[in-house]
Amino acid sequence: MAFLVGADCLDEMIASLRSNGRTVIGPAVRDGVITHDQIESASELPLGWTEDQDGGRYRLVPTGTDERFAFSSPSTSWKRFLIPERTLLLRARRSNGTVAVVEPEPEAPSVAFFGIRSCDLVALGILDRVFLDSDATDPTYAARRPDVFIVAVGCNRPGNTCFCASMNTGPTPTSGYDLVVRELHSEEGTEYLVDVGSERGADLLAGLASRPAHEGDLQRADRAHETAVASMGRELRQDYVPLAALDPDHPRWDDVAERCLACGNCTMVCPTCFCSTTEESTDLSGTEAERWRVWDSCFSLDFTHLHGGSVRTSTKSRYRQWLLHKLVTWQDQFDTSGCVGCGRCITWCPVGIDLTAEIAALAVPAAATDLGGRDV
Ligand code: SF4
Ligand code: SF4
Repeated sequence: MAFLVGADCLDEMIASLRSNGRTVIGPAVRDGVITHDQIESASELPLGWTEDQDGGRYRLVPTGTDERFAFSSPSTSWKRFLIPERTLLLRARRSNGTVAVVEPEPEAPSVAFFGIRSCDLVALGILDRVFLDSDATDPTYAARRPDVFIVAVGCNRPGNTCFCASMNTGPTPTSGYDLVVRELHSEEGTEYLVDVGSERGADLLAGLASRPAHEGDLQRADRAHETAVASMGRELRQDYVPLAALDPDHPRWDDVAERCLACGNCTMVCPTCFCSTTEESTDLSGTEAERWRVWDSCFSLDFTHLHGGSVRTSTKSRYRQWLLHKLVTWQDQFDTSGCVGCGRCITWCPVGIDLTAEIAALAVPAAATDLGGRDV
């Protein structure tokens, strides 16, 4: 059963979560972008802001409205709150001829994700498969993830780089949340349709001022969903994806390698990329050492370093591995695509490489491709 609440209720939700000891992470404007950060009240949500996103381009744009969720994919994903950029794995100390090794207990902060979009929620489900539902459960992820309180939000204004509708991952969250909020904006003002996804979500909502939603409220939310689907900036044709995997000698791989800087930005911003490496360091006296897990990227030369050198020495081989791993071999490994259509890798690629365009170009005969690749 859905309920309708006013804007004040968002503040009450955040206050209630905080009074239960949770740190609330939500979308906020920081340093000229919308990102995820700790928030203390609804006044920190991006009231009146949306963005202009395109390949290699991001600008904040005022909406002139009182909408709080009028943006699409924030610049960062939620993964850094579950698999931090740097995690201390062990600390060793040598003393009197013996070495004592301490493995720190993983931190288990009590947090709420407030305002997570459907694509990012599906991405969390993919990370769950990798880090929880496998033979090698990750202790850091396992300590943080199960208790996270999720307040999802429907996406009304997809960005120009979004394609979740073609990935069947959005724009309206369908599961995996405690509460889901859908912003209903009109000239009379902005209200929020709230649906419950769990017992603890119901408990939170029960303490807040709300009324049962009317049929008209549900119809407004459905119209907002349909408008969002119709305004997706891009699409990834699923029937093109397997075709793109077929030809390792396709000239498009050389073409994209000419443009790709192998900077790894696309993997850092991606909500499902999770690769890491380990770094070890010692102090100058050689008595203490630490081992850290740090984010890594399959675009770095050392990522495939075995004895004697790297396996993938060319940018062409690294781009091909990234794209086909995301879209094809993840299916074999995890029974899901590694892409949820959030569009971040397109927006934050410094040269605007667009995986939807690359797949479109790779999936047709070479003679029919062009550099744009989007008209095929
Ligand atoms: S591959 Fe790109 S569009 Fe797909 S989930 Fe990752 S960042 Fe988003
Ligand atoms: S595709 Fe773009 S973001 Fe990714 S490594 Fe190449 S240049 Fe960097």
